[in-house]
Amino acid sequence: MDIATIKAMHAEHGKDLALVVNMSGGKDSVRMLAFLREHFSDITTYVVYADTGFEHVRPISAEEFARQRTADFGLELVTVRNPNKTYLEMVERRGKFPSSSTRQCTSDLKRDPIHKFIRTLAHSVIINCTGIRAAESASRSKQNPWKQDARISKAGRQVWNWMPIFHESLQQVLDWHQASGTALHPVYSYAGGYLKRLSCRVCIFATNADIKAIYQHDREAFDLVASLEQRIGFTMRAGESLFQIIGQDIAADSQAEEFEAPCAA
Ligand code: SF4
Repeated sequence: MDIATIKAMHAEHGKDLALVVNMSGGKDSVRMLAFLREHFSDITTYVVYADTGFEHVRPISAEEFARQRTADFGLELVTVRNPNKTYLEMVERRGKFPSSSTRQCTSDLKRDPIHKFIRTLAHSVIINCTGIRAAESASRSKQNPWKQDARISKAGRQVWNWMPIFHESLQQVLDWHQASGTALHPVYSYAGGYLKRLSCRVCIFATNADIKAIYQHDREAFDLVASLEQRIGFTMRAGESLFQIIGQDIAADSQAEEFEAPCAA
């Protein structure tokens, strides 16, 4: 999908068209918001943060950081969450962790609350934007960056899922932050922190190096997940507990941009 086509849609639908921006406070979603404001500042835009209940809290919460970056563009952040469970509660009740094949954390704690928000909007055409990039992982490179969402395109409402920065590289995203003077959340290793991603405090897709770094820098989150593993008798990573992972040599850990792609960046 290109800029001219979105502008043509806006010309056709006017105020019936709105953008919904999925904002995690991460580098890609902030970069995406900048792109959208640069090209579509005349389209009604809602910026939505989905709180899984296991988001970074120090030295600044991911939510507050997202709120500040959203305010940089003159917009307000709307926070949504699943009213029935947090990430840790979900794992405890199911007795197992999500996996790449059953990614219930993303669907129940992020996608569904955002869909619920979209259903409250009066606009008949909604473009639901996420900061997913093809370069993040092999599976993401195969995704379609523009696709109608049949699940919520109902009752006179058309919803399109769009990945506006799908073709940007990690370096382009980081260069944009530097050139524009836009801060990165302090947990990022690019900003002096210890993680390549701003995801849940211990994401199911964390690399061994991430888990070791979390053990050193966010022991509270590490212990919450490690103790959960013991209580439910199920490990986040197949066949090895968090404590077993931190005892391993991590020199062979992937140096690729991403090991796998969680739902935030
Ligand atoms: S960041 Fe990771 S653990 Fe959290 S919801 Fe997304 S995939 Fe699941």
